[in-house]
Amino acid sequence: MRRYGVRPRKKSGQTFLTDPVVAKQIVDAAELRSQDVVLEIGGGLGILTMWLARSAGHVYVVEIDPRLVRALRDRFESRSNVYIIQGDALSIQLPAANKVVSNLPYSVSSEITFRLIRELEFELAVLMYQREFADRLLAEPGTRDYSRLTVDVRYAVDVEEVLQVPAERFYPVPAVDSTVVRLKHRAVGPFAQDEDVFFWTVRGVFSYPNKQVRRALRIWFKSFGRNESEADTLLKRCADVITGTERVRQLPVAAFVRLADEVLGMIETGLVPDPRHGGRSR
Ligand code: SAM
Repeated sequence: MRRYGVRPRKKSGQTFLTDPVVAKQIVDAAELRSQDVVLEIGGGLGILTMWLARSAGHVYVVEIDPRLVRALRDRFESRSNVYIIQGDALSIQLPAANKVVSNLPYSVSSEITFRLIRELEFELAVLMYQREFADRLLAEPGTRDYSRLTVDVRYAVDVEEVLQVPAERFYPVPAVDSTVVRLKHRAVGPFAQDEDVFFWTVRGVFSYPNKQVRRALRIWFKSFGRNESEADTLLKRCADVITGTERVRQLPVAAFVRLADEVLGMIETGLVPDPRHGGRSR
């Protein structure tokens, strides 16, 4: 860091893993083969890149900080399978890769996760997050950490915990511990008939996580000018999976899929405004 004039910037999530054993454990979780193309976001000083370069066919490393880009280019100059890309992972065109392995910059981990899920057909992603964020991704319905983020992410991917990493394994030592998780695109449904309507429904209903579902639906319907009985009609159509007296934060992803499919039916008959044409719920 001294050689390249790097002074870690908290704002850019610059906290570097210092333990090569932990780095190897993270890379091992990606089960790399020689034909794999790996994307790493935020290469830093290359502690993960080093292991990735040894096992994968190609490694694309995106790094925003020009000083770190220089350090990475020097370090991996002799590795013909490592490509360092200077840029912001939120805005550059991401290279196609079948695996992603990253110790994500915490300040933008949510945005990067959604970008990866939406834009990359990855087979497997091994990602390190702040412990609290990972806990939300891993949470089960009804628990304290179960949130709109949980539903939005778990609609698309299965999430599995790999490893917990204490704060002292980083420099500078951050205020919080980290957790490594593995994401795989969900192979088994149910999937919503219309994903825009699904995410719109989750956003509308999860605005009231602690209310009973019946109450939350009534408030949400009111927000776009519909009455209680129309909300109750929606609930009745989902009666086999939702009672209405449970709290919103107790609903599993499959129940939101069902709700969204019934909402879609109501959109098609003109009972509910179409969010895909500017009729936002909030
Ligand atoms: N991989 C290294 C490690 O494990 O020690 C560094 C991880 S550090 C938590 C995150 C890295 O992401 C930093 O090197 C930081 O400069 C970089 N970074 C921050 N924001 C970024 C962005 N928007 N796009 C690409 N890289 C970013």
